[in-house]
Amino acid sequence: MDSIESFKNQAGELDRLDTLSAFRYHFAPQDEQIIYLDGNSLGKLPIRTNALLHKVVTEQWGQRMIRSWNENWMGLSQRLSSKIARIIGAEPDEVFVGDNTSANFYKLAFAALKFQKERNKIVSDNLNFPSDLYLLQGLVSHHFADHHINMMLSDDGISINTKKIEEILDHKTALLTLSHVVFKSAFMYDMGIVNELAHKYNTLVLWDLSHSGGSVPVRLNETNADMAVGCTYKYLNGGPGAPAYLYVRKDLQEKLFNPIQGWFGHNEPFAFNLDYKARRSIERFAVGTPGILSMAAMEPGLDLILEAGIENLRLKSMAQSTFMQQMIYSHLITLGFSFASPEETQHRGSHLSLQHCEGYRISKAMISPKDGSPIIIPDFRPPNNIRLGIAPLYNTFTELFETVIRMRTIVVEEQYKLYNETVEEVT
Ligand SMILES: *Cc1c(COP(=O)(O)O)cnc(C)c1O
Repeated sequence: MDSIESFKNQAGELDRLDTLSAFRYHFAPQDEQIIYLDGNSLGKLPIRTNALLHKVVTEQWGQRMIRSWNENWMGLSQRLSSKIARIIGAEPDEVFVGDNTSANFYKLAFAALKFQKERNKIVSDNLNFPSDLYLLQGLVSHHFADHHINMMLSDDGISINTKKIEEILDHKTALLTLSHVVFKSAFMYDMGIVNELAHKYNTLVLWDLSHSGGSVPVRLNETNADMAVGCTYKYLNGGPGAPAYLYVRKDLQEKLFNPIQGWFGHNEPFAFNLDYKARRSIERFAVGTPGILSMAAMEPGLDLILEAGIENLRLKSMAQSTFMQQMIYSHLITLGFSFASPEETQHRGSHLSLQHCEGYRISKAMISPKDGSPIIIPDFRPPNNIRLGIAPLYNTFTELFETVIRMRTIVVEEQYKLYNETVEEVT
């Protein structure tokens, strides 16, 4: 067991060697008193976004008014798509940006079930993000009454063995849908293996990349992925409620139809024909007018990820999560914490999950210290998970060191007892 002093020295040394260390200065706030470990829920504000939004509002909207559609806005979604495509290992004409993740998930799940209409089995798992499961349940109750949702159950609440996928898939399976990186435990599926297993049965796979886009290299093309959705306000730092993205492999695009036939998915939206004709491109998954202000705000976040390089970010994130894991094992496990993420770094995304029966009050003590300690912002997922989102673009090793020390103090000194159990609406 390494001493606290030795972890402190290691953290300092790792920060000095960090080639990405300057990126943190591209983000607000520059306040050293706040350690932000919630980039997996809402990424930080890139400083450039302030000036950019100001310009879009005052110049493009304020001065140029409607003329800005042709001058700036019509090309925006494609420019963003091509940047996201580079981050998730796809081609620019396979990515659409717009709507939110849930709406995009609905469009693609609906399209896939229609396309595979002679099959009636849908497979997912109980580690998946609830919204995705609600959407599937809605599709079955409102549109696909003959379908069943078959849930794979995790044995440990952390991961799912690939064997379970092998066992559950068959020729009746229309759709398999999973989170690439699971929101609670950070378990990461091997996308290549899963796609290959599913394709043996011609099952379509819909990936949710919300916790992997911008945090781990995603290789949609290389692994022959069918479909994916993801959000941009987490590791991509696009801003609260920033538009999401969807991906459909090129050869599938003409086979899948958007169930919401709005004018932006029409072949000629500005011809104002009275009959719908779907576009042939990925833009057929558009619905209506995009939210220009929130789309514009996304670009600096994407640029910073591309500048840093997703492979470099992954290396740093793995080093950081390994460092933190070692410290957790040395200094927290004996205090009632348990490690609720996969043990091996390569099997997890960029956050760590810890469980403690006082998890909620511990997270409150981290966020609102009463003893002058730095503010530390993790997040909490019921019943007792504290998630520590490591964002390698702006978190330092020293911050991770301080977080573990702070958690230790909160428990050793029973500081959490100073907080009540009232749960806020957003945690
Ligand atoms: C955050 C997240 C979402 C968000 O969905 P919205 O429709 O953008 O609110 C969806 N899926 C997963 C796995 C997520 O982590």
